[in-house]
Amino acid sequence: MQENIQPKYYQAKVTCNCGNTFTAGSTKPEIRVEICSKCHPFYTGNQKVLVDAGGRVDKFNKKYGLNK
Ligand SMILES: [Zn+2]
Repeated sequence: MQENIQPKYYQAKVTCNCGNTFTAGSTKPEIRVEICSKCHPFYTGNQKVLVDAGGRVDKFNKKYGLNK
């Protein structure tokens, strides 16, 4: 009875203006975006810095036994 209420869920093909394509779960089969995580230097830069910093801190803590 309630099946029609649920929106259809696609693995949408997302196309960015930079030419990058990737898939994302969406209620639309195709999505166009102007900026993605690959072509936005501020966005990717921030993520990398966070990951790098986290990894270094973790290694440092392990090396010096500070993870207690
Ligand atoms: Zn892009």
